[in-house]
Amino acid sequence: MKNIVIFGAPGAGKGTQSDKMIEKYGFGHISTGDVLRAEIKNGTELGKTAKGFIDNGQLIPDELMIDILASVYDSFGKEHKGVIFDGFPRTIPQAEALKKMLSERGHQIAAMIELFVPEEELMKRLILRGEQSGRSDDNAETIQKRLNVYNTQTSPLIDWYQNEGIRHHVEGLGTIDEIFARIAKIIDNL
Ligand code: AMP
Repeated sequence: MKNIVIFGAPGAGKGTQSDKMIEKYGFGHISTGDVLRAEIKNGTELGKTAKGFIDNGQLIPDELMIDILASVYDSFGKEHKGVIFDGFPRTIPQAEALKKMLSERGHQIAAMIELFVPEEELMKRLILRGEQSGRSDDNAETIQKRLNVYNTQTSPLIDWYQNEGIRHHVEGLGTIDEIFARIAKIIDNL
């Protein structure tokens, strides 16, 4: 079982590379952003709460995110090849909660893969994605807020996972396949 945290700023390519990992390794996938967008679409209470935060480029409170996580993880059953955590954790309390949730099940994170992309390129990618996907938070103002949130609240996790001894830095510039080759090399060595 190889549980993986795919980490990086908004627009770093976490979703794209997750798709490639799912295809090659048969992993399960938890994207907390996708979970929240589905809740919004279904008009649930959680969706209503989440929408305000998302449209403002802010993080949903940790307690809410942590509650959702265990139930989504358990939906993959007890035996699986590994689950990719995409967009989670985004804060140190979330990383601690993830570690605890997994250890209660006798599981762990095998690797944190940090996709590094310079901010100028992130901005370009997100603006383009907004034009294509219509995501309400992919506009210049909200993107800037999300990058600020990443820099202040999320990037400290790089050191956190470094201390855990499982951080892997990957250059996130190049073709999708070039980047995936860098990731696959790490996964194959786990
Ligand atoms: P994403 O699709 O991962 O870019 O997430 C879109 C938005 O959903 C984020 O900007 C946050 O508002 C919210 N979100 C997703 N995952 C989390 C998380 N782990 N913690 C808090 N908020 C989250």
